[in-house]
Amino acid sequence: MKSIRELLAEDDLKKLASRSNFRYGQEIAKNDAIKIKKSNTFNLIVEIKPFGQRQIDTELHSTTKGLRWKCSCTAKKNFFCEHCVAVGLYLNTPAQRSE
Ligand SMILES: [Zn+2]
Repeated sequence: MKSIRELLAEDDLKKLASRSNFRYGQEIAKNDAIKIKKSNTFNLIVEIKPFGQRQIDTELHSTTKGLRWKCSCTAKKNFFCEHCVAVGLYLNTPAQRSE
């Protein structure tokens, strides 16, 4: 099974998200709004508090069937929202990589 980081390279994020959601995700990642609640090789549970907005809970999991995700911003299944993008980009930042 692949690690969650392996599944969230920038190219993967671009494929999963729409272009506009990718752009929103970049903004969120830049604004330091991401707080990791739980993180291990295969799972990520994150709180996102965009400035002046309600808190969002985002989960990303690497499973035997590939990447699975869930976000409190939408009930739509399989919709890779801007928050999922932001978490992925956050993982790709050099400081996170060197962990
Ligand atoms: Zn979301």
